[in-house]
Amino acid sequence: MKSEKGENLMEKIVSLCKRRGFVFQGSEIYGGLAGTYDYGPLGVSLKNNIRNLWWKIFVLDRDDMYGVDAAILMNQDVWKASGHVKGFSDPIAETGKQFNLMFQTHVGASEEESAVSYLRPETAQGMFVNFKNIVDSFHPKLPFGLAQIGKAFRNEIAPRDFLFRVREFEQMEIEYFVQEKDWQKYFEEFRKKMLDWTKEIGLDPKHIHELEVSDADRAHYSKRTIDFEFDYPFGRKELYGLAYRTDFDLKSHAEASQTDFSYLDEETKEKFTPHCIEPSFGLDRMILAVLLDAYTEDELGGEKRTYLKFSPKIAPIKAAVFPLLKNKPELIKKAQEVYKNLKKEIADVVYDDNGNIGKRYRRQDEIGTPHCVTIDFDTLEDNTVTLRDRDTGKQERVKIDELTSRLKGV
Ligand code: ATP
Repeated sequence: MKSEKGENLMEKIVSLCKRRGFVFQGSEIYGGLAGTYDYGPLGVSLKNNIRNLWWKIFVLDRDDMYGVDAAILMNQDVWKASGHVKGFSDPIAETGKQFNLMFQTHVGASEEESAVSYLRPETAQGMFVNFKNIVDSFHPKLPFGLAQIGKAFRNEIAPRDFLFRVREFEQMEIEYFVQEKDWQKYFEEFRKKMLDWTKEIGLDPKHIHELEVSDADRAHYSKRTIDFEFDYPFGRKELYGLAYRTDFDLKSHAEASQTDFSYLDEETKEKFTPHCIEPSFGLDRMILAVLLDAYTEDELGGEKRTYLKFSPKIAPIKAAVFPLLKNKPELIKKAQEVYKNLKKEIADVVYDDNGNIGKRYRRQDEIGTPHCVTIDFDTLEDNTVTLRDRDTGKQERVKIDELTSRLKGV
C-alpha cells in the first residue's frame, strides 16, 4: 500500500475543508473578509477535541495551574503598559512606515481618546492583570501557572496561507511564574512538554524543528525564545513559541497601575516579583498542521482514496454505525440500537445509511473517522458486528458487548 500526499497539498486541504464542512471562508457569500475563517461542524469538533485535550494535559492533570477566561476588551492602559501601543507593529512594505497590528475600537457612545480600546492581540495580558486576583484568592505556591484559551486579533498586513496567518485566531497560553533563579529549569521543562504535545496530536516529529530566536528577532519582553516550527508546504514556519518573559509584564503593570504585584514567600518571608515562562500555542496554525500531516492518498482494494489519518484522540467523529442495507427493517432496527447505545458512552458517533457501504466507508475515511461499525445479517444471529479500521481497511468481527470498550480504548 503506497501512501502519499500528492501535488498541491494546500489546495487539496482547503477544498476538503470546505466540501466536508471543516472550515469555510469567512463571510463567503459576500466575497469573504480577508484573514477570517468560519469553522463548520467537523472543524468545531476537531477544535473542541484539541482544546479539551490541551486543557486536560496542561491544566487539569496538574496541581499548579489555574484557569482564567479574561475579557477580550481591556482598558487601553493594559496595552500601554505592556508595550503593545508603542511597539506591536510591522513595517508596511512600500513606505517602511510602522503599522500597529492591534484592532482599535471605541467603548460606548464616546468617540474620544479616553474611550479607545483594542481587541486583544494575545491572551497573555488577561492573565498578567489577574495575577494578584489569583494570588489573593488561591495563595498558590511558586512555581504556578495561569492558563487561558481564547480569541486573539491582529490586523495582519498580509493574511495568507489559509489558517496560518489570519486576523482572528485562537491562542492557548500559559504564564508560568517562577523564581528568577529557576527560569532555565522550567524553560527546559516546558520545552519538552511542548514537543510531547506535538506527538499527542499526531504531528510527525520529523516535521517539527526548534529555532533559537536571535536577540534581534525576539519580542521586546523576551530574554529567550524558542520557536517550534513546522514544515508547512509554503515553508518552515512558526507553529508555537516558548518565551522567557522575565518579570517584564508584572513589573510594568505594577508600576503603571500602582498595584503591588510582588509575591511573598511564606517560608523565607522574602518579597519579590516572579519571573515568567510563557508557552504559547496558536490553535488555528495547529489545526492546519494536523490536517496537513493527517492527509493521505493511497489505494485500497484497487481504488484510489483520500483519508485523514487523525489521531483517534482528536478525530471529529470516533465511529460511524451503518446498517449493511437500507431497506431491511430488522437491520435498521438493530443498527439504531447499536448506535444509540454507543452514543450514550461516546458522544462523537454518527449513523449513516446513505448510499452503498463502500461509499459510506470512503466518506468516513475522508473526514478521518478511525472506525466504522457495520450491522449485517450475521449480527441478528450472533450479536457481532464488523469493525473496520480506517488506515488499513481491515475488518474484524467484534461482539456488540465489547464494542464500547474497544472504541473507548483507542
Ligand atoms: P509570526 O512571527 O508568525 O507573526 P508571532 O511570533 O508574532 O508569529 P506570537 O506573538 O509568538 O506569534 O504568538 C503566539 C502564537 O500565536 C504563534 O506561535 C502562533 O501559533 C499564533 N499566531 C500568531 N499570529 C497568528 C496569526 N496571524 N494567525 C494565526 N495564528 C497566529
